[in-house]
Amino acid sequence: MATIAFIGLGNMGGPMAANLVKAGHKVVAFDLVAASRDQAMADGASVAESSVAAVKGADAVITMLPAGKHVLSVWTDVIPSMSKETLIVDCSTIDVESAKEAHTLAAKHGMASVDAPVSGGTGGAKGATLTFMCGGEDKAFAAAKPVLEKMGKRIVHCGGGGAGQAAKICNNMILGISMIAVGEAFALAEKLGLSHQALFDVASTSSGQCWALTSYCPVPGPVPTSPANNGYRPGFASALMVKDLTLAQDAAKAAGAATPLGKHAQEIYKAFDAAGHGGVDFSGIIQHVRSLAGK
Ligand code: NAD
Repeated sequence: MATIAFIGLGNMGGPMAANLVKAGHKVVAFDLVAASRDQAMADGASVAESSVAAVKGADAVITMLPAGKHVLSVWTDVIPSMSKETLIVDCSTIDVESAKEAHTLAAKHGMASVDAPVSGGTGGAKGATLTFMCGGEDKAFAAAKPVLEKMGKRIVHCGGGGAGQAAKICNNMILGISMIAVGEAFALAEKLGLSHQALFDVASTSSGQCWALTSYCPVPGPVPTSPANNGYRPGFASALMVKDLTLAQDAAKAAGAATPLGKHAQEIYKAFDAAGHGGVDFSGIIQHVRSLAGK
């Protein structure tokens, strides 16, 4: 089995690295936070003293970091210490421009690289059921796929460098907008005296059907596993939705695309976040929608 360096052991990276260990890989892990390094060791990984030390002798390097600046900084540090045969994969959600810049850094050293952001959240990271959206050359994707399969269920090749990030932010823009739409429909139904279950029974089998309704229903009851049944925790934090909608807006501006609803959704989630609800699952946006009534 391959030796894999894993850098960034947070809510997502920690369990992802643990799944690579479970699959029989030798994992050499690094994170700036000592508690995350300790957890990785408890999960069976070896821990390195730095990201540069982690990549020495690795067959593949995976990064799972907060934002583009972290990815570019780590890739700039580690790439000179890696052999040309080493594959480098970034699974973070970052801006398309930084993703392309990261591919350029790797290409300058003759190395294969893939951007492979994920959907599926912390549950998917723990259960190895993530979807990976990949950007990179065919050969790089073919090398990354067997490794990613140990952490996910669906591995999609979306195109060249940066295409994975493009797919991720387009998907999450749909998600952010549709969750607000579903929240507005339930808020209106409440005012009209229509029960949550009645709206769900109709919309989930009619043209209003969508993932935000049938998997993450923002009111308790109709979908027992949705975060609404658990005080809107845990799930996909609203602060992360703000991040993704902001990445979509930045990309839309740079590419000259019109995304009026994406822009409005970003403003609505930003207001929810600013009111102190950044840690609440994004389906909690229904509470914000209700609070706007009569304003
Ligand atoms: P997190 O903040 O829990 O983890 C990020 C980790 O990176 C932290 O442990 C931090 O210490 C580490 N780190 C930062 N700079 C570093 C450096 N220079 N060297 C080594 N380690 C460093 O975040 P997360 O929830 O694990 O998310 C990671 C990425 O995945 C983000 O880009 C996020 O947008 C994306 N994502 C998250 C979710 C989710 O549900 N949490 C879902 C899909 C995608």
